[in-house]
Amino acid sequence: MSDNFYDIVAARFPANPDAPFIELGSGAVLSYGDLAATSARYAHLLRSLGVVKGDRVAVQVEKSAEAVFLYLACLRVGAAYLPLNTAYTRAEISYFLTDAAPRVFVCAPTTEEGLRDTAAEAGVGTVLTLGANGEGSLSERAAGQPTGFDTVACGPDELGAILYTSGTTGRSKGAMLTHRNLASNAATLHALWGFQPDDVLLHMLPIFHTHGLFVAINCVLMNGSSMLFQAKFDADTVFRLLPRATVMMGVPTFYTRLLADDRLTREATAHMRLFISGSAPLLADTHREFFARTGKPILERYGMTETGMLTSNPLNGERIPGTVGFPLPGVSVRVADEKTGEPLATGAIGVIEVKGPNVFIGYWRMPEKTAQEFRADGFFITGDVGKIDEQGYVHIIGRAKDLVISGGFNVYPKEVETVIDGIDGVVESAVVGVPHPDFGEAVVAVVLRKPGADTPDDAAVIRACKEQLANFKVPKAVVFTDELPRNTMGKVQKNLLRQAHKDLFDKRAA
Ligand code: ATP
Ligand code: MG
Repeated sequence: MSDNFYDIVAARFPANPDAPFIELGSGAVLSYGDLAATSARYAHLLRSLGVVKGDRVAVQVEKSAEAVFLYLACLRVGAAYLPLNTAYTRAEISYFLTDAAPRVFVCAPTTEEGLRDTAAEAGVGTVLTLGANGEGSLSERAAGQPTGFDTVACGPDELGAILYTSGTTGRSKGAMLTHRNLASNAATLHALWGFQPDDVLLHMLPIFHTHGLFVAINCVLMNGSSMLFQAKFDADTVFRLLPRATVMMGVPTFYTRLLADDRLTREATAHMRLFISGSAPLLADTHREFFARTGKPILERYGMTETGMLTSNPLNGERIPGTVGFPLPGVSVRVADEKTGEPLATGAIGVIEVKGPNVFIGYWRMPEKTAQEFRADGFFITGDVGKIDEQGYVHIIGRAKDLVISGGFNVYPKEVETVIDGIDGVVESAVVGVPHPDFGEAVVAVVLRKPGADTPDDAAVIRACKEQLANFKVPKAVVFTDELPRNTMGKVQKNLLRQAHKDLFDKRAA
């Protein structure tokens, strides 16, 4: 049998072609029959445009059922699907198109005008639009194509997708993911999270990122079940649709926003099987407050673009706030010394390294970078710092790149953030290192406060830190803010904070 991920999931689709797959915000329902027919028509069109196995198809479109069918069509012709963040500007798209050299580029009609020239300069053969009618429209050009298509057989190590990382720590890198990567992750999560055919997923995540695409959609495909597909998160939508859902997947900001809403009650959530959180750290307080309000412990898990999911708190068993749970079956996770690669003892803090069928085969056109990120024994160096405790739960402490070295001492921002977040009146904090003439780097806390009269000032923040932390970890400055900068996946962009405060201790700038 072919290892094409489409063949693997298609073998599990419901026998009844009218079984629902996607329900859109408008209430329109697309079935598994629609999925098979439309992805076949798109696959024929792609083939007629010269797309063959080994090619790439780049896509920057709004979230829609057609976008999902296009993803599946790419798999069916054996091409690598390459989704791009809808927030990318023309200049960024130009970079990605030049880097990825796709055969076809599919974009939204609103971006088409500006991008046609860019695409031509990048050597893209065909530009199509999705979401409108007209000459270059994908749906119109595919309309007359047959609704059956023999999916191209693929080996497990052939490329299924190239997914660019979120760019939180630098320029996004194209992670090359194989059919094996997609299949192993989907099968593992499907089993681990106990999916049943009658599960209904509330899907409010973007679909250009691993979370919304390879965790959420691939789980649903593997399960042959349906999802309520919403363009984006908003609390009104959640409370309207929740009665019909059984599983919700979200980023931590979804949960903090739900907590700010009076409609979040035990009654409203009683029937829900699972609330899952990932892509960024879930504050332990959010976990606890959500549990207090609903009786549901959020299941936090951890993964990355390059690896798919790596760890998960248990479906049955204690979900410990502030941890990302246990390594997934078949995935090896170890903690090592960042410099030497020497594995560390239980409980010791180091860089997290992983190995398994879910781990990507390398960064697109970056052989040196790829070689740097793998150890000789095949473990991938995630760049995240953490530890594994006595019970086997993995704790993520932060990113190696965010480590602050102040006066020669290592400061893990999370340790300081945890103290500051625990102060009454603080919503959240982000700790970064900024250049300092004496210490090399100085610890700076950027703090978001709750509005109110007795909200803490900088002296109160420093006092709390001095009580609980060694002196070198205490912030040298506290900056209050109305909002922490986040990207579309809800990740705090520490590079922007470092940049904004880089001159804080620069005497010349003062
Ligand atoms: P880039 O690699 O381009 O800098 P990125 O690492 O943010 O961007 P993604 O692959 O989207 O790109 O994100 C993976 C990272 O997200 C992980 O390496 C980890 O730092 C963080 N992450 C994901 N889930 C969690 C979690 N549950 N807790 C803490 N961090 C998490
Ligand atoms: Mg990363």
